[in-house]
Amino acid sequence: EAKDRGKGGHQHFRTGMEARGSDRRRLIDALTTAIDDDQLILHYQPVVSLPDGRTTGFEALVRWRHPADGLIGPGAFIAAAEESGLIVPLGRWVLNRAARQAADWGEQAGSISVNVSGRQLQVAGFADEVAKALRTSGLPARRLILEITETTVVGGGATRTNLDGIRAQGVRLSLDDFGTGSSTLTTVAGLSVDQIKLDRSFVDSDVIARAVLLLAQGMNAEAVAEGVETPAQADRLHELGYRRAQGFLFGRPAPSDEYGLTRARVGGP
Ligand code: C2E
Ligand code: MG
Ligand code: MG
Ligand code: MG
Repeated sequence: EAKDRGKGGHQHFRTGMEARGSDRRRLIDALTTAIDDDQLILHYQPVVSLPDGRTTGFEALVRWRHPADGLIGPGAFIAAAEESGLIVPLGRWVLNRAARQAADWGEQAGSISVNVSGRQLQVAGFADEVAKALRTSGLPARRLILEITETTVVGGGATRTNLDGIRAQGVRLSLDDFGTGSSTLTTVAGLSVDQIKLDRSFVDSDVIARAVLLLAQGMNAEAVAEGVETPAQADRLHELGYRRAQGFLFGRPAPSDEYGLTRARVGGP
């Protein structure tokens, strides 16, 4: 998706599905360096309550500050990171960085949502890594939300154990991009999640938006509408019963210092 790419002018790397062979190899090598050389950064997008638009938390979204190509969005490298397994160290970095940022911001910043790939969840001990990230950062478990997808959930390996272990700590789980995966309603209804995010491709469909809201209510989960861009969409979703939303209307993903929440860290960064 061209719109997901950075504003870095010339796009050096081709995105996920296109990049093959040596292109893909180069991308993976460069991404390995990026993780080691601190070229990754996080942007934060507000999650708000409806109808007031008050910020109740943030979602952390990774970007790559490429030395030659500028800012590259996750659409250009997450798929390659998942295929190569690099998503495991990359995701570990994201989790720790986001937890530390949210702890630095303090309680007034609310929740912090972090995207977690299926590959990470398959690794035995991932739930312990989450616990460690909380301990190291000082972030209370109740402020952390891990976003997973329908495909993630049926991932096998240690997935089930990790999901249980994560929730046992008081960390919340959110089902991201809901409706775009291929899981059956049986699978979804059997999940223990705290939040369901209506994918932005459904924001204009009353039928789907209403069905997802009812499903969320039946699962005792909160429904969040993603990709809200206009006041009319926000009004409509609120009318349907949505109490949480996210989208360009309320705020674009931006660096942490653009939120005016940054607090001096004792002992410096
Ligand atoms: P996502 O988790 O569903 O994140 C929401 C995406 O929608 C973000 O794109 C965000 O910038 C975009 N968005 C938010 N509001 C609007 C809106 O009103 N209109 C439109 N058109 N778009 C909106 P972004 O940052 O490019 O991220 C794309 C995807 O990359 C994410 O989708 C997520 O699946 C993945 N991703 C991002 N960061 C990470 C990460 O740290 N780890 C993993 N595993 N995946 C990540
Ligand atoms: Mg997400
Ligand atoms: Mg999403
Ligand atoms: Mg999405």
